[in-house]
Amino acid sequence: MHEKCGVVGLSLPDEDAARPLYYSLYALQHRGQESAGIVTHDGFQQHDHVGMGLVGDAFDERSLSGLRGSNGIGHVRYPTAGGVNECCAQPFSVSFKSGSLGLSHNGNLVNADAVREELAGLGHAFTSNGDTEVIAHDLARNLLEADLVRAVKATMERLHGSYSLTIMHDETVMGLRDPQGNRPLCLGRVDGGYVIASESTAIDVLGGERIRDVRPGELVVLAPDGSGYDSYQLIDTGETAHCFFEHVYFARPDSVIDDRLVYDVRRSLGRRLWEESGVETDVVLPVPDSGRAFASGYAEAATDDGADTEFAEGLMKNRYVGRTFIMPTQDEREQAVRLKLNPIKSTIEGRSVTLIDDSIVRGTTSTQLVSLLDEAGADEIHLRIGSPPIVAPCYFGVDMASREELIAADRSPEQIEADIGADSLAYLSIDALTGALDRDRDELCLGCVTGAYPYDVEGEERDRDVSRPAVSAADD
Ligand code: 5GP
Ligand code: MG
Repeated sequence: MHEKCGVVGLSLPDEDAARPLYYSLYALQHRGQESAGIVTHDGFQQHDHVGMGLVGDAFDERSLSGLRGSNGIGHVRYPTAGGVNECCAQPFSVSFKSGSLGLSHNGNLVNADAVREELAGLGHAFTSNGDTEVIAHDLARNLLEADLVRAVKATMERLHGSYSLTIMHDETVMGLRDPQGNRPLCLGRVDGGYVIASESTAIDVLGGERIRDVRPGELVVLAPDGSGYDSYQLIDTGETAHCFFEHVYFARPDSVIDDRLVYDVRRSLGRRLWEESGVETDVVLPVPDSGRAFASGYAEAATDDGADTEFAEGLMKNRYVGRTFIMPTQDEREQAVRLKLNPIKSTIEGRSVTLIDDSIVRGTTSTQLVSLLDEAGADEIHLRIGSPPIVAPCYFGVDMASREELIAADRSPEQIEADIGADSLAYLSIDALTGALDRDRDELCLGCVTGAYPYDVEGEERDRDVSRPAVSAADD
């Protein structure tokens, strides 16, 4: 339901960038499994390869060795509800009068249609309905009239919505984060060069070192010879709308996002869940893998409080059941949970159990797991969720997520508890969430848990009063 996608950009002194980019994409694989791609530039021309499926399937020795050049960008794409979408695999690449352009995008614009219409009216021909192509065309147009930094700034002033981008103009690699910093983006140093990526795990895998987050509204331009980078704060609103769900679910626990280690945030959310709605049971069970850090924080806080409880793995995950598993009927969807997760009966039988997951979306997982634990002989089953109820869609954003699919859109936690068949159900409060993230409400995007959004979305409420990003002078 939420837009993930992973982006990366890399500049090295002389070694080909393709192979390290390929490793980085592996480190971002959790952000997208539908397609993977790399675009490089060798100083004379651009090379690209995009393939469907996992990173390991999308590339082979031949496609990698064809990607010459020490500068490049990469992308992994998250599957949309519409299914496999070959047209929209990224990076998007295009050649035009003032050079070649490659773009990797994570996020979703809310005014892409308006900008596309305007550009189409000016004679631009579009090959997809994706918003990344809109950004590419707008930037290409601005580059005819301005230098790189001014062109990016002019494009940024037209875009409204969420975007973390890695961009390549000829052999220059850049990173750009939207003025509210909705999606993560960070900067790191690797041996001889610099890297920009959605998550710091993509820097770790190269043996590099994370320097810092790319700031909301900032453009980072890497020197093509890998010798350094320049920073331009193109827009500075002083406002942020970081997606809290990155910390709850999307990002890898070993990533550092907006200066916080995701694993620590999740453990602290688990501790707060105990403080708000703890119930003493014989055993605390994580839903693997997403509930693990929450459950360990929860169990630790429980034990600190003197509760006599054990943290145990009672559900084993079959790691070979991927997204490609086809489930046309509800029966098969229910079968899928059994295929993915198998209870360890001896941990569960005759005991009271607290089951911990990060979130409930449709409610399929929790409903199935409660009945699995029940069959395995649990005495009592208490469900604790490390995020507030998801009551509204994310528009930044696989567009298919709708309120009808969300179990909490029109039901109270009490009704959901009854639907799911748990002895008790509690979610984390929004205050506990902002507390653990050490952020005020208006520094975060809480759209999916409040139904009010930091960006203009047709037919939806706005949660703050920033009409448009404040524009700073072009030459500062
Ligand atoms: P449900 O079964 O309620 O629809 O989904 C809840 C489960 O899906 C949780 O275990 C959670 O970790 C995971 N989840 C949360 N958000 C997303 C998402 O955007 N995409 C996918 N694939 N899974 C999600
Ligand atoms: Mg999960």
